[in-house]
Amino acid sequence: MTGWWRSWRRARTLERRAIPDDLWRLTLARYPFLAARSAAKVDALREMATLFLARKEFTGAGGLVVSDAMAVAIAAQACLPALELGLSRLDGFVGIVVHPDAVVARREHEDEDGVVHSFDEELSGEAMHGGPVMLAWRDVEEAGESAAEGYNVVIHEFAHVIDMRGGVTASVEHVDPDSERGRWLAALVDEYEEFADRVDADEETFLDPYAAEALEEFFAVGAEAFFVAPVDLEAEQPRLYQLLAEFFRQDPARQLP
Ligand SMILES: [Zn+2]
Repeated sequence: MTGWWRSWRRARTLERRAIPDDLWRLTLARYPFLAARSAAKVDALREMATLFLARKEFTGAGGLVVSDAMAVAIAAQACLPALELGLSRLDGFVGIVVHPDAVVARREHEDEDGVVHSFDEELSGEAMHGGPVMLAWRDVEEAGESAAEGYNVVIHEFAHVIDMRGGVTASVEHVDPDSERGRWLAALVDEYEEFADRVDADEETFLDPYAAEALEEFFAVGAEAFFVAPVDLEAEQPRLYQLLAEFFRQDPARQLP
């Protein structure tokens, strides 16, 4: 019965709450990397974004009012990494909090000697287990222009959501090294270590050096570039491109319409 009810509800959502044509066209024009795939895939993305909008709750913070155009922009970019994996990979949280600009968060870090240091960190986005997902609208709005640098805050945070929900990078310590996932993860760790060495050596990298912070950041930063600047990522890190293509079951460098 659940299956029947779900598909009935899905059909009703698509019928009643479908993203209007003009709003969808505007979204594709503002974020051209969304449209860089076959017409059938762009339609599938629109459908997924519609269902996403029906399931998630947007809240504006700091006086921001989340308009339809803002919600659709976020939904479409959030669904892009889940397009071939299924919307359920973005379950596990409901709330999306949109701030006008980056948020300053007070952080504490305990060093090896047990001394606690506190510092301020500027956040353009944040994803936590169970949500909510926090996004800075200024960064989301500029995602069309910042795509050339491989930067995309929505894809970054929703790559974290997919990673956390699937326990992907977190399983690196206890996955069977001979399993398919074990081999995939070992290759990702190799790429990560090579990248971290380049950052340590002050080499110029296409990926944001922030990716060297931790394996999960490498995955999320890699995912941003994979979806918004796939040709550049593939040129510099073909093996990482291949690993992400396998994971997301997409090949954006070759999916142009
Ligand atoms: Zn991150």
